[in-house]
Amino acid sequence: MGTTFFVLTGCDRTGPEERLTMESPELSMLESSFAYFERAAEHLKLSDSMREQLLHPQRELTVAVPVRMDDDKIKVFTGYRVQHNAARGPYKGGTRYHPDADIDHVRALAMMMTWKTALAGVPFGGAKGGVKVDPKRLSQSELNRLTRRYTNGINHIIGPNVDIPAPDMGTGPQTMAWMMDEYAQTHGQTPGIVTGKPIDLGGSYGRDAATGRGAAIVALEACRDLGIDPEGARVVVQGCGEVGPWAARVMAEAGSKVIAISDSGGAVHRGSGLDLDEVADFKKRTGALSGMPGADSLTNEEMLELECEVLIPGAIEGVITKANADRLRARIVSEGANHPTTFGGDQILQGTATVVLPDIMANAGGVTVSYFEWAQSMEGYRWDLDRVNSELRKTMVLAYQTVCETARNAGLTYRQAAFTIAVERVVNAMELRDSVV
Ligand code: NAD
Repeated sequence: MGTTFFVLTGCDRTGPEERLTMESPELSMLESSFAYFERAAEHLKLSDSMREQLLHPQRELTVAVPVRMDDDKIKVFTGYRVQHNAARGPYKGGTRYHPDADIDHVRALAMMMTWKTALAGVPFGGAKGGVKVDPKRLSQSELNRLTRRYTNGINHIIGPNVDIPAPDMGTGPQTMAWMMDEYAQTHGQTPGIVTGKPIDLGGSYGRDAATGRGAAIVALEACRDLGIDPEGARVVVQGCGEVGPWAARVMAEAGSKVIAISDSGGAVHRGSGLDLDEVADFKKRTGALSGMPGADSLTNEEMLELECEVLIPGAIEGVITKANADRLRARIVSEGANHPTTFGGDQILQGTATVVLPDIMANAGGVTVSYFEWAQSMEGYRWDLDRVNSELRKTMVLAYQTVCETARNAGLTYRQAAFTIAVERVVNAMELRDSVV
């Protein structure tokens, strides 16, 4: 099934579920985004013209990013910035440096940001950026030049009240420092141009932990609702980047037992619970997790099938699929990563006892604290960590409760409920603005 199926003939009113059989190939991330949107649009009885507007990003920019490499040769990378919707506020979304970052990927992630900001109730729209590059193969000075050149390429379509980039996979606070500095060369000092900045450049306390913390907060709320005692609950975490370790730490602070955690090379597992300081120390010293003394080494695939109360996929997309969803033995899946469950995998999980807390809710902690950071930058006033964490908690719990209530009242899954709430909020904003004349 091609992408155009949804875009051009997206008005076929049979739901995506009905059009797909278990023999259909897995949908791509973009196709899944369209399918989840279609389902919400169906539920909300949206007009064809509204659907068409929401299926089309408002702007897409592709830029060549020529970089002088350390050996003095010039290499040209491709960068993107997709601005999906700004009805509720300036475009907002991360910047991904990854070999798979192509236009369809960035489009899907931009659309997801529109729903995520709406569901979290932060006054932003949705966007995403990316450069097709493996950042691990570039030196720091090459990454600096790449980031500046990319920022120059998108300079005319971003701004603190227009579109505010942030980090995502393969980028971090240092990348944001370079972006902010490059933007300042033409616009003057503008701390509100990016979020996820280093603390010394106006970043927010708690932004580093926010996405993982948010995924843990909603998982703990779900534990409570399902009668699972967080004390001693078994937790499995995929990913050891910005998201996974913080999610693990917040679950451990609540008394849960993190029994496995992984990076791209595989997982470490200890049934009695891992010491997270020991894991962090081993990873720092060796650059890997596999081989840590006193723990079993597992593949990522084996780890996902461990029996546990909470599974937090916090690494990459498409790891829970039609091929393994029926073997999951987690009671709760809190999607720290974007799109860790394929559309086919999601359909299988709907028929099981596993409760899925969807990405647009579970990983909204990052953009929520990005909003706090932007507000602090615009105001020139810093919040303390307690304030950030307490406001984050309020936002996450409210989003969770709203999703649960809608799911219960309308007989929807949490994912369907989350999309329905988010799409409705964006549609309301578009109708109020009434900008199509
Ligand atoms: P990161 O680049 O810091 O870390 C990614 C982690 O995934 C690393 O530990 C890496 O080893 C691991 N990984 C890579 N390939 C893997 C594979 N094939 N199998 C298992 N693990 C693999 O990225 P991040 O910022 O932690 O983001 C992780 C996910 O969370 C992404 O989907 C991202 O879009 C999403 N997300 C991140 C934020 C944020 O604030 N950083 C916010 C919202 C959503």
